[in-house]
Order: sequence, then C-alpha cells, then structure tokens
Amino acid sequence: MAVIRLTREFSFEMAHALEGYDGLCRHIHGHSYKLFVTVSGTPSTDPSSSRYGMVMDFGDLKQIVNELIVDRYDHALVLRQTPENAGLLERVREKWERVYLVDSQPTCEQMIDQFARQIASALPEGVQLAELKLYETEKSHATWRAEDNIPL
Ligand SMILES: [Zn+2]
Repeated sequence: MAVIRLTREFSFEMAHALEGYDGLCRHIHGHSYKLFVTVSGTPSTDPSSSRYGMVMDFGDLKQIVNELIVDRYDHALVLRQTPENAGLLERVREKWERVYLVDSQPTCEQMIDQFARQIASALPEGVQLAELKLYETEKSHATWRAEDNIPL
C-alpha cells in the first residue's frame, strides 16, 4: 500500500509583538492565522480495525491539534519576555489569562518550529508529521517539512 498524506486546516486569532523589531510589528497587533497540518503514513489494512483504510482518523488529528495549538493560542497574546519588560508583562498576565511570555521572538518561524515538535510527538504510532504551513496573512506563510528537519 502506498504512503498517503492527509492535510487538515485549522485557524486561530492571535496577537503578538516583535520586541526590538525595527518596524510596525514591534507594536501589539493581531493575525488570523491558518495552520495546515499534513501527516503521512500507510492506510490500515486490518479489516478488524476501526481505522481500516485510514492513515489516521481526521477526527483524531483535529483533536490533537485543537488541544495542543488552537485551544491554547486562539485569542491569546504572545510576547517575548526581556529583563526590561518582565515586571510589566507579569502584571498584564495577572489580568488576562491567555497572555504567554516566551523567550524567543514570536515569529511565524519560531511558532511553526515549536508546533512541529508538539504535534509530531502526539501522533499515533506509524503516522509521521510530513509538513506544516502557518499563514500569518493571506500572502505570507512559513513552511516546515520533515525532510528538512531530520532528526526532528
Ligand atoms: Zn505580526
């Protein structure tokens, strides 16, 4: 049986700011992110399995990505913590629960790298993460591919 790729689309609204960036993106602003998750594997050939004929149940993929990514980042604010803004950001976090402080810059590149690690480790046995595409705008997106990142 051939190796098949499955893709499911997700979306979430998230705000961020690029601390120290020389441009408009240093201000807090939001994006309507789109995330395309592609997995690969061989469809089950076991007629007694509830996943017979499937690489993976789309519903299972939906549940994994919603739990790890969408439920966490939808309507969230992600900011890079620096020694200078640490106190200020802690105060902000006291008021709004979906404020995440990270050590790295919350760019498309950093986010997709983190998402890939999280999703890859949650997939069922025999199913690999093949590709992620994260659209920050309609015209701009980052791509993560398994073949570019071995080992993960
Ligand atoms: Zn942005």
